[in-house]
Amino acid sequence: MSNSFTLTNISQLVTNNSALGDGQLGVINDAAITVTDGIVSWVGQSSQADSSVPKTDVGGRSLIPGFVDSHSHIMFAGDRSQEFAARMAGVPYSAGGIKVTTEATRNASDDQLLNVARGLIKEMHESGTTTVEIKSGYGLDVATEERSLRIAAELTDEVTFLGAHVVAQEFADNADAYVDLVVGEMLEACAPHSKWIDVFCDRGAFTTEQSRRILEAGIKKGLQPRIHLNQLEQGEGVVMAIELDCASADHMTYLTDDDISALAASSTVAGLVPGADFSTRAPHYPRGRDLLDAGAAVALSPDCNPGSSYTTNMPFCIALAVREMHLTVDEALFAATMGGAIALRRDDVGHLSIGARANFALLNAPSYIHLAYRPGVPLISTTWKDGNVIFTKGDIA
Ligand SMILES: [Zn+2]
Repeated sequence: MSNSFTLTNISQLVTNNSALGDGQLGVINDAAITVTDGIVSWVGQSSQADSSVPKTDVGGRSLIPGFVDSHSHIMFAGDRSQEFAARMAGVPYSAGGIKVTTEATRNASDDQLLNVARGLIKEMHESGTTTVEIKSGYGLDVATEERSLRIAAELTDEVTFLGAHVVAQEFADNADAYVDLVVGEMLEACAPHSKWIDVFCDRGAFTTEQSRRILEAGIKKGLQPRIHLNQLEQGEGVVMAIELDCASADHMTYLTDDDISALAASSTVAGLVPGADFSTRAPHYPRGRDLLDAGAAVALSPDCNPGSSYTTNMPFCIALAVREMHLTVDEALFAATMGGAIALRRDDVGHLSIGARANFALLNAPSYIHLAYRPGVPLISTTWKDGNVIFTKGDIA
């Protein structure tokens, strides 16, 4: 047991396993957790922890599974703060501002791209995120998409080829020719670095038919599909996304009742990204409450990207989900942890059952409810990944 440690005096331990504790979150009060070789080896009452394992008293704080962020666009360079300021001053959002980032990304060195992404991952660790998916999509040419993915693969196993983010400017008059490039030479170069393929199926990006073509080409190359959908207007992509067994369909600010029923009957997770609705001042938030009431699986993500949601902060999204989409705090926390894991089709993260990866975050709060109750307050004390501390404020022994 030389590689074991136990955290004791946890006021609330969220396991996300209802067999281990109370409710959907499987909460154990006055709990302890033991980690052996980076894996959760025991959870239970503090008083019953194995006395031979080295212990750290966490002082009555709460402990949650590390957040699983199933949607990020952190391979980019450049700054779009001016665009944000303009939008807040009344200029409506369109997907066009992306060309500013594309130009900067194409001109950036590998080291510059790596440093931007590393900096954002550090922010994620500071706010409790321990698993992140990373998309390409700011190169929009073969060389830059390929190197974005190659660099992303140094940072995570969850790498997503999003060459079909928008139509590259060079192909503005011929979107189908750009789709030809994406499903041809670009896919060929990018598939070896990627696990997933994604497409932005919306007004100003790709049609449902183009999206289908792109996802089917990726599937044929051994990639698994996920999709951006209905951020800007109601489209017809939900049926197609389900038909192709997309692991998640993300955004969906616009959804019909039929879409919601179809999602509930499918294995496609609704990936809600309320930070984007917040930062683009969308007319409304996605129908999170209706999705859950219908029985759909929901994931929450900050959708970190320089254009429409430049935040890495999952607690902020939990607060938005509770305040604006009427999720309960329990549902929002579950969506930010287990929901993300399901959206990435992972069973080793997002929960703290025996055998799970020891990815978790300690909150400077007696209850996880504070995540939504204290919006904007940096509550994370310490974050562990595979049993190693990856961030700490140094406030526990
Ligand atoms: Zn996105």
